[in-house]
Amino acid sequence: MPISLASLSLVDSPVALEEGRKILERDDYVCRYCGLDGRASFENALIMRVDFVVPRAHKGKKNPSNLVACCTPCNTIKGTRVYASFEEAKSHVLARREELRQAWQQKTARPKAKAAGA
Ligand SMILES: [Zn+2]
Repeated sequence: MPISLASLSLVDSPVALEEGRKILERDDYVCRYCGLDGRASFENALIMRVDFVVPRAHKGKKNPSNLVACCTPCNTIKGTRVYASFEEAKSHVLARREELRQAWQQKTARPKAKAAGA
């Protein structure tokens, strides 16, 4: 039996299962923010969900024009802030991801002597 990506990721979602599956299929299971491919691996499939572009908390509508496929990290970074448009939300998420990546790289960077040795 094939794994249902929708049932894995929509367990705690406010979007009904069938509705969510349609959104994920429309977006080809690719995160609309960072481009992560939800079909590339089981791990990716686990973190795919459906995002409300305008959050529910701000009267975001539960219709397809306000819903996008989204990975959990992008969903978390985007939070419940309201953006002027999807494009603005996307640039915020991508900029924040880059900041987090740089911070992570600095923290995990090894001193040169250690890296060169073994
Ligand atoms: Zn993403």
